[in-house]
Amino acid sequence: MRLDKFLADLGYGTRSEVKSLIKKGKITVNDIKVNKPETKIDEYNDKIMYLNQVIEYKKYQYFLLYKPSGCVTATNDNLHKTVMDYLKEETKKYKNLSPVGRLDKDTEGLLLITNDGRLSHHLLSPAHHVSKKYYVELDGEVSKKLIEEFKDGIDIGDEKLTKPAVLEILEPNNSAYLTITEGRFHQVKRMFEAKNLKVTYLKRVEMSSLNLDGLEKGSYRALRDNEIDELK
Ligand code: URA
Repeated sequence: MRLDKFLADLGYGTRSEVKSLIKKGKITVNDIKVNKPETKIDEYNDKIMYLNQVIEYKKYQYFLLYKPSGCVTATNDNLHKTVMDYLKEETKKYKNLSPVGRLDKDTEGLLLITNDGRLSHHLLSPAHHVSKKYYVELDGEVSKKLIEEFKDGIDIGDEKLTKPAVLEILEPNNSAYLTITEGRFHQVKRMFEAKNLKVTYLKRVEMSSLNLDGLEKGSYRALRDNEIDELK
């Protein structure tokens, strides 16, 4: 890979900015100063350094956003604020970042944003049964019989019943956790609606092995390498 592409892909600037860094002799490859942007490097094995720090190659980026309500899950929208507006610094640096799946405008919680299309596809594929846990508040009491009904699968007007879901009723009992492994349109709201309950508040608290610990609403963080590995 060309050295200028390597640096630009990793967010060190635009192609022309990184070219200028290289020409100024700020980058070393295997401890030797280079000044040609087109220098070919082995991104996995060569030691590339800038400001005395080794630059580790990462092909894709992964961010976890605590989505607030009021923004839409889209990469751009003419009318509404989007989830990408919370990652402005990252979208300036990295190409093709987009949300994995969607949360409704009024839903809060965990949203993964990446430019790794393969991982995104894997996490969204119904075949992989990736679990998503939601905290739900409703306009009425959740009856215990729903635990079995949600486990067996219910009719929400689609061709097929919903896949087994885990319902945990909380105190007060107009609130619950619901864990599902599908991602049908408005699925959680429709599951409760089918049982004559209206969702008044919805927040995704977990997806696969990820949770929102340590994140404030509207903030995000990069995933750690071990977290990325666990998702694959
Ligand atoms: N189910 C819903 O109904 N809405 C969401 O935003 C996510 C899951």
